Amino acid sequence: MAGDLAIDIRNVSKAYGRGAGRTQVLKGVSFQVARGEFVALVGQSGSGKSTLLNIIGALDLPDSGAVHILGHDYGTTSDRGLARVRNTEIGFVFQSFNLLEHLTCLGNVMLPAQFDGKMTAHQAEERALEALRRVGLADYAARRPSELSGGQKQRVAIARALFNQPALLLCDEPTGNLDSETGRDVIEFFRKINDEDGTTLLIVTHEERVSRVAKRITRILDGLIVEGDDSTIARDSEAKDSKAKDGNAKDSKEEEGAA
Ligand code: ADP
Ligand code: MG
Repeated sequence: MAGDLAIDIRNVSKAYGRGAGRTQVLKGVSFQVARGEFVALVGQSGSGKSTLLNIIGALDLPDSGAVHILGHDYGTTSDRGLARVRNTEIGFVFQSFNLLEHLTCLGNVMLPAQFDGKMTAHQAEERALEALRRVGLADYAARRPSELSGGQKQRVAIARALFNQPALLLCDEPTGNLDSETGRDVIEFFRKINDEDGTTLLIVTHEERVSRVAKRITRILDGLIVEGDDSTIARDSEAKDSKAKDGNAKDSKEEEGAA
């Protein structure tokens, strides 16, 4: 039944550019995620992950194909309807955190508040504080993002994504700017959200290590979904993770230096 699916896309195609510069990024992708699932979509850089995630999140439109998200048929939903789905039913977490520097952490978490008569500013603050508490950062409510470490910034971004208690959380390389230990903490937190709230989670990543925590892994290769052999992926990730440790530790030092 379509109603049990959080994500149901069929034969979705998307190209960028024209003429000789035209790139077919998605080549007829079909992909389903049941409500409450925690899925990692793993693929190399350039395989079309962000393009697909943006289509699922109603941030971009496909050239062709059917997109049903949380029971909404995007093909027959107005722009206003799509904006409403995007703002109230879906949460987004990005690699680069996308926090606004001129706002405090509390202000950032409150950004998705819909002041449509149902919520006062005070209630929005209370709810934002609760979300910050959930990610362990209530004490940082009055701080600016620039005063936080990378892992803390991502936790603030997660609190913001959870503000409207979305049914679907879409994460684009959420650990891409984090060292491996911090990245693991963030992924563990996603698992907690999935377990406790039943939030459907889709994480796209090129990092195999994320696959350990997701409950299902699907692969994307050159704009096409290829169902993964989970056991193979798990074995690969063990090997790559131990190799990647040194490199990631260096990254985190560089990040601290830059902050
Ligand atoms: P991934 O997230 O897996 O790295 P993307 O979905 O970002 O892959 O991109 C897939 C391909 O589409 C890449 O070759 C990229 O250069 C191209 N692409 C993405 N967005 C655009 C755009 N707005 N205009 C032109 N090409 C794009
Ligand atoms: Mg990407």
